[in-house]
Amino acid sequence: MNNAGVINRRENSRGLRIAHLYPELLNLYGDSGNILVLRKRLEWRHFACNVREVFVGEKADLSKTDIVFIGGGSDRDQKIVCEKLLEQQGELASFVEDGGVLLAVCGGYQLLGHSYSMGDEEVRGLSLVDFYTDRGSPRLIGNIGVQSRIAREPIVGFENHGGRTYLGAGVDSLGSVLFGWGNDGKSGQEGCLYKNVIGTYVHGPLLPKNPGVADYLLLRAMERRYGVTELEPLDDEVELAANRAIFARGQ
Ligand code: GLN
Repeated sequence: MNNAGVINRRENSRGLRIAHLYPELLNLYGDSGNILVLRKRLEWRHFACNVREVFVGEKADLSKTDIVFIGGGSDRDQKIVCEKLLEQQGELASFVEDGGVLLAVCGGYQLLGHSYSMGDEEVRGLSLVDFYTDRGSPRLIGNIGVQSRIAREPIVGFENHGGRTYLGAGVDSLGSVLFGWGNDGKSGQEGCLYKNVIGTYVHGPLLPKNPGVADYLLLRAMERRYGVTELEPLDDEVELAANRAIFARGQ
């Protein structure tokens, strides 16, 4: 590490451990691609990356985890995984309160809140962040663009959800909707930002076209684990061209 806290390419004994929860059920619209991006951006900087897929019936060892990822899923699959997640509620809450990095997309995002109500049925959430979700009609579908303080470029992607998410009074959103629906189609807000947790409705997958979000997560995790304050910049020409193309298409 140099004086500025930047880890450079010569130091490659460091790395991050990622836990990917329930990939066999929660993986819509290429959500697992987010893991590939985190891995590649670590490897391009000569860091190690260890990904542990945690299947239904298994438990994540969060004491050995830097980043947790939970993808999106159908209402049916959310009902299955919510019970499994609730068995680990205490560990997940400690991880989050301790600054652990967690990215959750759509169905996974909804499960971070208090509840996901589907009219006659309700899925209990993890209550890691103060919000709740109600299913409404019609589904909120289409391209989405979000202006967020965590990334220089607008966050772009695709959303498809019946749920409307209502954030508690003190909870920050991930950003403001530029086009698309976001949390509830009305508030103009998308996602949530709480400690080092990002919840978002953005699929696509999220991270390939939004390298600023990927590096935000990696830096938070590197900071927590190693005290690193800056990441070596990468050449993101291709990623940013994709970001601009989707932004132009969505407008
Ligand atoms: N089942 C949830 C909904 O429809 C989440 C869908 C998703 O993950 N795309 O709101």
